[in-house]
Amino acid sequence: MTKMICPNCKGNGFTRNSFEAENHELQCKTCHSQGEVSGDEFFPQTYEDKNWLGKASLTYYHGPCLDHTLFRKLRIIL
Ligand SMILES: [Zn+2]
Repeated sequence: MTKMICPNCKGNGFTRNSFEAENHELQCKTCHSQGEVSGDEFFPQTYEDKNWLGKASLTYYHGPCLDHTLFRKLRIIL
């Protein structure tokens, strides 16, 4: 089975949320704190792309997890 680095936590297993100047570490729900997601499963994802005007726009993609080092602001939506 193929494993991909979880794009939401970058493989850390948790995400940092800034809330009222305090930093909270939250368990990553996307990968259940594993830091990896299945490369064989399909996920709804968004990433930032540039349109023909050179403006950043959010692109929606549904399929196997993309490589977060190649796609800007890649997120799995759950
Ligand atoms: Zn994760």
